[in-house]
Amino acid sequence: MEVKIQEEQMKTSKTTGEVMTQNRRCLSEITNYVTDLFSDEKYFTCKASITKVLHENGWYYNACPNPNCGKKLNTIAGGYDCTQHGVVEPIRKYILKFDIEDNTTTARATAFEELASTLMKKSAAELIAIDSKVDYLYTNCQLI
Ligand SMILES: [Zn+2]
Repeated sequence: MEVKIQEEQMKTSKTTGEVMTQNRRCLSEITNYVTDLFSDEKYFTCKASITKVLHENGWYYNACPNPNCGKKLNTIAGGYDCTQHGVVEPIRKYILKFDIEDNTTTARATAFEELASTLMKKSAAELIAIDSKVDYLYTNCQLI
């Protein structure tokens, strides 16, 4: 999304705000558009509120650390396997799912690494480190 906005800015020398306003749609217009299977790829901006973060199935995945890969890894007996790079040491990347709404409808959305890091103001690795520390403290407090 950010890249498309920057591309549009370069073509038209408009500000980010101008491009975002030009592409602004309400959520129902976007959801109606994406259900049309024959639509070309389009980029819109939308002002919506996050109403629920869906974390029941996890909020990150084990990804291949190789630059320009980042594929989801398969768990195997020897560790983690990338279909392209074999057994690798995984990095954790966001796959943050949430419900959003505006005054026209609701929708389910997924934010991957770049956008999720912006929303959370932390990388997935930083959050996992904090989460591990909390688990450690919680376990030790129970033992005392
Ligand atoms: Zn890979």
